[in-house]
Amino acid sequence: MVWQPAENRYTSMKYNHCGKTGLKLPAISLGLWHNFGNDTPHQTKQAICRRAFDLGITHFDLANNYGPPPGSAETAFGEILKTDFRGYRDEMIISSKAGYNMWPGPYGEWGSRKYVIASCDQSLKRMGLDYVDIFYSHRFDPNTPLEETCGALDQIVRSGKALYVGISSYNSKRTREAAAILKVLGTPCIIHQPSYSMINRWIEEDGLVDTLEELGIGSIVFSPLAQGMLTTKYLGGVPDGSRASQSKSLNPAFLNERNVENIRALNSIAERRGQTLAQMAIAWVLRGGRITSALIGASRVEQVEDCVKALDNADFSADELAEIDRYAKD
Ligand code: NDP
Repeated sequence: MVWQPAENRYTSMKYNHCGKTGLKLPAISLGLWHNFGNDTPHQTKQAICRRAFDLGITHFDLANNYGPPPGSAETAFGEILKTDFRGYRDEMIISSKAGYNMWPGPYGEWGSRKYVIASCDQSLKRMGLDYVDIFYSHRFDPNTPLEETCGALDQIVRSGKALYVGISSYNSKRTREAAAILKVLGTPCIIHQPSYSMINRWIEEDGLVDTLEELGIGSIVFSPLAQGMLTTKYLGGVPDGSRASQSKSLNPAFLNERNVENIRALNSIAERRGQTLAQMAIAWVLRGGRITSALIGASRVEQVEDCVKALDNADFSADELAEIDRYAKD
């Protein structure tokens, strides 16, 4: 039988305007960086996407290189789109990116027009889509004129392969430059995707949050749970199957005694607030309304269910914020 999404899927999620645009994004979005490669059963990926959509998560974030192997997350997602979301494309915001290493030779990474456009075409093919909603330059390329990278993004929109464009991990200075170029081209930069969490505050120090607000650009922050560190999962050691156990991107060395003690203290604050640490970590990045969306990852359906409940208690007192600062430092 064909899967049908929940009828009440829009009753509890909050949707925020992405900067000064008409596009709204869910306060919590789902990223497919990990757990969507060939090392994860298809049923798990399908169940996570279905549950996320049922809970009002309309935005799914991908990139050319998500896997393993690179490209396989887009292929798996394309399959799920075909079997489950066929009639729901207009209710979904799907993004992809180009910037990191994708194929051998001099044209397989960074920010040249050659690479960015070829990569976008490949992503569309893997997902079986005519267009993505947002296409990103995944990282600033110091060896390609920014005009060329931005020109490629503009061309992608003009050729109907994306509706909007964004940049990821560009610092404040480069963001201003890219936004100015894209504005002249007539394809505004509508979104920035940086990392941000209680223990990773570079966007505050760099002035990026202020820059984005000033320029009317939305922000979707990745790894708000610090890849799982800002949850209770590592309080009793490194569990089998967790990201830190798989020599993936989360270095188990971060889970030293001092950091785990700090996470334990943060968990006590979350308990007092009547929420899980994951929920508090998500609420924290969204506090004050300056961030458009918290971009989470999940290896299980239950994690998505836990995370969306962050919105049930999203306000912090000044005392709570000060106490969090005592234990959560960059
Ligand atoms: P998170 O910080 O949300 O970490 C996700 C991991 O945390 C999960 O895989 C899971 O770990 C654990 N987790 C999630 N929810 C819970 C919960 N409720 N309780 C306990 N553990 C939980 O984000 P990611 O690092 O996965 O990044 C999210 C997305 O951001 C990516 O998928 C991608 O779309 C984007 N991203 C973009 C980058 C860029 O350069 N633009 C770089 C990195 C990410 P486990 O798997 O161990 O169960």
